[in-house]
Amino acid sequence: MAPHSNRIEMKVAKPGEETRRLRLYFLLPLVIAILITEVVPIVGVYQFTHKSVGVGGLHLRMSAIDLYNESVEQHAQALETISDILDRDNTLRNALARKDRQALLDYATALFRGMKRTYGITHLYFTGPDRVNLLRVHDPDRYGDVIDRVTTRLAERRGKNVHGVEMGPIGTFTLRVVSPLFDERSGRLLGFVELGMETPELVERLRKSLGAHAFVLIKKKFLDRKGWEEGMHAMGRAPDWDRFADYVVSSQSLAEIPTALAERIARNAMENHEDEPVIQVGVNYYRPLFLPIQDIADRNVATVALLVDISQEINTARLALSLGAVAYLAGGGLLFVFFYRLVGWVGQRVEKSQQELEQLATVDQLTGLHNRRMCYSILKAEIAHAERFGGPVSFLMLDIDHFKRVNDTYGHVAGDQVLEQLGLLLKEFVRDGDSVCRYGGEEFAVILRDADMADAASMAERLRANIEQGGFDVGGGQRLKFNVSIGVAAYPESASSIEKLIEAADTALYAAKDAGRNRISQYEKPAVRAEA
Ligand code: GH3
Ligand code: MG
Ligand code: MG
Repeated sequence: MAPHSNRIEMKVAKPGEETRRLRLYFLLPLVIAILITEVVPIVGVYQFTHKSVGVGGLHLRMSAIDLYNESVEQHAQALETISDILDRDNTLRNALARKDRQALLDYATALFRGMKRTYGITHLYFTGPDRVNLLRVHDPDRYGDVIDRVTTRLAERRGKNVHGVEMGPIGTFTLRVVSPLFDERSGRLLGFVELGMETPELVERLRKSLGAHAFVLIKKKFLDRKGWEEGMHAMGRAPDWDRFADYVVSSQSLAEIPTALAERIARNAMENHEDEPVIQVGVNYYRPLFLPIQDIADRNVATVALLVDISQEINTARLALSLGAVAYLAGGGLLFVFFYRLVGWVGQRVEKSQQELEQLATVDQLTGLHNRRMCYSILKAEIAHAERFGGPVSFLMLDIDHFKRVNDTYGHVAGDQVLEQLGLLLKEFVRDGDSVCRYGGEEFAVILRDADMADAASMAERLRANIEQGGFDVGGGQRLKFNVSIGVAAYPESASSIEKLIEAADTALYAAKDAGRNRISQYEKPAVRAEA
């Protein structure tokens, strides 16, 4: 049996090839589109969240500075109010006018205790008009020194209340209100009342309200090293004067200064920037915020470095971003899978249709043999091969004798069965590499590879005899017998081209019919007659 000759090159797509091609053409642009439509929003969202966290940082900074300044101002107001009340007290005024230390102490001791407890006031001074200290209620043993601080001198010069933050030589910050008292009648300066409160507490409050870590950095040039170191020891802290060139750390709420912050302190780079890089400590993210501390003389004496915890914002933004990315990717993935399968399905259908079309175009539907078109292609290929390699090819044209009678006697259905079974017989009869075709109606063609005229004729004769002896069961115990006539032609003996070979076989077939049917006939080239 030779259903297909391997010498035939038909334009037949390999299975799955069409589907692969469709997938490439369709899914490649889809993947590119998905990537573009996904990457663009993800990058956009990333930048947006990054920026909004940045803008949040900016607001935070402004509000922190406002908060601190407000807090200082509020406390100053409170101190001024208390100071006003004291100023109007005649007992106090008289004692001050008399420079009566004991009277002042009697007057103020209980009062100061109450103020300390209720308002956090840590200092209460009474000073004479010559700025010589009469009494420190908080430290009664120290007196008689000249108070030379900016606040007192300003109050003396201006003749009215002065307040502001001052840093002591050992790095403590005190908010002071100095109020000059005058004799109501003569207008003579009686002396000064001074109230003070230590401000680290204000920084601490700010730190807590921001949920931040704070590092109080003091400029060395405003400090006395020995005094500062002693003060630190007194507060139970370890002083490290040499760690940074310009600053010392007077207090810190984190055991270690994060490297990124330490590096900025070392570089003196403590200005606030819009795009402040985030500092990571363990699993927390911080935005640095630098709060300059100015004293009453408008000197930048210290900086409070705040590390505001923005872990929540960052994590929320990251979570939103990753959820978005996951959703986008899942969507894209689903889209891809959907189209992958859809294209696969379409591809299979296309391939199936192609196969069906191809079958219709090349196969005879009744017998499953090659049709006439395919017969022509095969014969052409065989001749081309024979031509190249110098072998023969034979072509048999077979026609059922009086087939009309079969149809007329047994009906068309029986006729069809005969055609079908003859097809099977022919296929079984030929060798591998030979081809059997239904040439049309009740005509068949057989292509015999590597067979010359003699081989083909003997094969055709055997075939004819076989059919004559055989017969087909037509049902009802009836047996249908029939004969065939076969025309035999061979390449290159009978003809030199495909058309001529077919024509030769046809001619031979008609010769067989003419000679009385049920026989074979070999094509004979017409003798060349020289006629006048
Ligand atoms: P001859 O010996 O001269 O070949 O006589 P014939 O009757 O075989 O030849 P003719 O050409 O007169 O008739 C061919 C018949 O074959 C006519 C047609 O009905 C029948 N035929 C052709 N194709 C088919 C088919 O597919 N099925 C059936 N049942 N009959 C077919
Ligand atoms: Mg016929
Ligand atoms: Mg016939």
